[in-house]
Amino acid sequence: MTRLLFVASEAYPLIKTGGLADIAGSLPEVLRQQGVDVRLLLPAYRQLLDGIDQSRTVAELELAGISLRILATVLPGTGVETWLLDHPSFAERLGNPYHGPDGQPWPDNADRFMLLSRLAAAISTGEAGLDWRPDVLHCNDWHTGPAVALTHLQEQRPLTLFTVHSLAHMGLFDRGTFERLQLPGHFWQDSALEFYDQFSFIKGGLVYADYITTVSPTYAREICESPGGMGLEGLLQARRERLVGILNGIDHGVWNPAADPYLEHHYDAANLEGKALEKTALQRSLGLAELDDRPLLGIVGRLVEQKGLELILPALGDILAKPAQVVVLGTGERRYEEQLQAVARAHPDAMAVILAYDESLAHRIEASADIFLMPSLFEPCGLNQLYSLRYGTLPLVRAVGGLADTVVDATPQALADGTATGFVFGPPDSGEFMSALARAIALWRDQASWRRLQATAMAQDFSWQRSAARYLELYDSPR
Ligand code: ADP
Repeated sequence: MTRLLFVASEAYPLIKTGGLADIAGSLPEVLRQQGVDVRLLLPAYRQLLDGIDQSRTVAELELAGISLRILATVLPGTGVETWLLDHPSFAERLGNPYHGPDGQPWPDNADRFMLLSRLAAAISTGEAGLDWRPDVLHCNDWHTGPAVALTHLQEQRPLTLFTVHSLAHMGLFDRGTFERLQLPGHFWQDSALEFYDQFSFIKGGLVYADYITTVSPTYAREICESPGGMGLEGLLQARRERLVGILNGIDHGVWNPAADPYLEHHYDAANLEGKALEKTALQRSLGLAELDDRPLLGIVGRLVEQKGLELILPALGDILAKPAQVVVLGTGERRYEEQLQAVARAHPDAMAVILAYDESLAHRIEASADIFLMPSLFEPCGLNQLYSLRYGTLPLVRAVGGLADTVVDATPQALADGTATGFVFGPPDSGEFMSALARAIALWRDQASWRRLQATAMAQDFSWQRSAARYLELYDSPR
């Protein structure tokens, strides 16, 4: 039985800021069900500790002069044994895991996530005083990069995998931080953790891991080139044979319109009445006009440039004039929040903007909307378009990363073949976005065709089974 240590900075439902939590909250459980002996390692953030019923102490240890405890609990809703790194820098701070209320990264992020990395490496190399050691160390994103590098210092080490959920966050710090953290001096070189005179956490994973994975085949290609590689394309190109794109799955238990506990009305592909009732209920609760003669367009996500706000904002006036209604749920950059709110204030019956993180409302928007907008500039995998497909809310996306791999454009050919599941456009400009939206709205007006598209979309299988099998293959691969 493979023993797997899966390390991440967040996992649903304990702590979530984005897609990484959805993956870390579901993949380990799927692997466990397939016979893997898995331990999930997370930082014990305050709100995480407040959200669990019980935990027990498995070990107390000191790493690089820092005392910490490992607490054990079970990831709610799963059978996954979860180890929590208990240290005041996580446990004594409320709010976002990565940044303070001012939006600035916590000043000790390098120290906090280095501690997580050190602990992962210590468990992996048998130096944490536990009677369990993994055959495979699977790390995720920059917070865990140094864990891979440190593990590779030891001869007796597990196979290592590093998954890139987004290359945009590299964990860059200055040289003083590198020195303060007392890492081996030879890590300070271009072929190791140095990145243009800075200390890069993510390079720990990218340089050293036996295998690098990322969350879609297209994104795996994009990061080997400029601009997708963001300066790391040379390194990734050199490691191309060890880089694999594996599409994320979605948790059909959590995202299922036929049984979603956040919904008042349930539905499936055979009977979409519940979807229409959800739309009316959402319109009512958000103060939108209760009209069914125009499509409701949904946006859920971080309000940042990556998500294509520069394409959406200039087009909003035209969108509402189609006519269409728009609902936006998200938080992010102040300038985007303000611009969106200004349009909503001017058109209160046609547009609602909710600046919050709200799991329940995210589900209700997925269920209520007719079209989901996701014109991202880049998108490693993207989950919301997958949720949308499952909820019969046809996604309108840009042809990048995982969006290109998961949505089939409603071209005349694809409509005739019955393979179309949404709307896809290429060049990142507002005009292209609007012409894709015009196509979508025209098709929405032809309800018989729309129903066919919805049925195809809802029949897509993006559950974890296939992707989990790919990870299992890698866990069994030679170093
Ligand atoms: P990313 O990881 O880049 O933020 P993804 O589409 O991969 O984007 O995943 C985003 C996840 O976070 C989805 O599960 C989405 O529903 C959720 N999410 C994002 N913003 C919000 C919000 N404001 N309220 C509720 N859920 C949100």
